[in-house]
Amino acid sequence: MGRRPPSRDRWRGCGAHSGGTTALMRLHHVRQLTSHGLSSPRTVAIAAGGAEDRDATGLILSPGWLDLHAHLRDPGFPEKETLTSGAASAAFGGFTHVVAMANTMPVTDKPDRVRELVARAADLPIRVSVVAAVSIGLEGRQLTDATGMKAAGAVALSDDGRHLLAAETLGRALRAAARAGLPVLIHAQSEHLGNGPDAEATAVAEALRSLAQAPGARLHIQHVSTRAAVDLISAAKRQGFAVTAEVTPHHLALTAGDVASLGPFGNVSPPLRSIDDRAAVREALDQGVIDVIATDHAPHEIAAKAAGANGFHGFETALAVLIGLGLDPAVLYRACVQRPREIIGQSVEDEWILIDPDREWTVDSSSFKSRGKNTPFDGRRVRGRIVMTVCRGQVIVERMLQRV
Ligand SMILES: [Zn+2]
Repeated sequence: MGRRPPSRDRWRGCGAHSGGTTALMRLHHVRQLTSHGLSSPRTVAIAAGGAEDRDATGLILSPGWLDLHAHLRDPGFPEKETLTSGAASAAFGGFTHVVAMANTMPVTDKPDRVRELVARAADLPIRVSVVAAVSIGLEGRQLTDATGMKAAGAVALSDDGRHLLAAETLGRALRAAARAGLPVLIHAQSEHLGNGPDAEATAVAEALRSLAQAPGARLHIQHVSTRAAVDLISAAKRQGFAVTAEVTPHHLALTAGDVASLGPFGNVSPPLRSIDDRAAVREALDQGVIDVIATDHAPHEIAAKAAGANGFHGFETALAVLIGLGLDPAVLYRACVQRPREIIGQSVEDEWILIDPDREWTVDSSSFKSRGKNTPFDGRRVRGRIVMTVCRGQVIVERMLQRV
């Protein structure tokens, strides 16, 4: 390989076996992703038990990314994903922390179900935070126990997948969530209007009106996909509303024009939009109107996808898709590292990823660690790959890359 530093440069911190301290790994000539963008090449020591020091020329070190929007399908849909398969997939994609939505079977609509998931997540190689439902059964009628959910360990409330909350109900939900200290995440789609741009704009406008009546509440708009929604969020932020927003890699990269060639594999909610909508969400991301990039990882088995199920695999393609967009590194840091953690009140705990930004590879869904092979990017030649993932101070992914 010829990439290991000369032996005189080798350095070892406290070994994992010498008193229980996590070993340090020194990365030489690595550039760091920071809030100011990319640093110049330098030597950085990180807590990474069991790893050897190495020459990281050409590589980028970032705090592990947090995916604020993921469907791990557990419990209830093992043919699509489980906590274990989802965690492995996330780790290979560079996410050391993911946030699991509540539309499982049963729905995460009781504090005991949150507690059970939090307990199971403790054994996973990455961190998984749990979102509890806003309404019982995601049916939009009876609210869940927000304070109980918070006490059980939920980091947010969301009925994602559905949006059946009437304005008055959402207002009550926002006030209860504010008392509990939790943000409310919404899949903004007025379902009676279908899934067109108007359905999104109407739901966002209505939710902002509810937010105005809920002092202290925090509202987060999931997977923003239209210019109309961007304009509403931008205006609300200028007026000081406590609103945040996310966009998916696929809404940044694809448009409705791609759907024809994808057939049912192009089905996603919200749908892929116009070229103008894509330009609007990209501009909003660059300007900070959209705070976060979240994958909306929505794994399905192939039979369900062929039958029309909505959603894309997200974890293992996100990084390369985003690198392909040529985003400003400072925006990437803000959208994938910083803002998602601020929104749910989480910090980075010895979580690192090492990225080879120049590594070219071909997306091959059959190689995914996820059970969901439903990617719209299958067969695409892309650039940018995870070399190593470290979580809780332990190396959990180390991908051997042959360099040519
Ligand atoms: Zn959604």
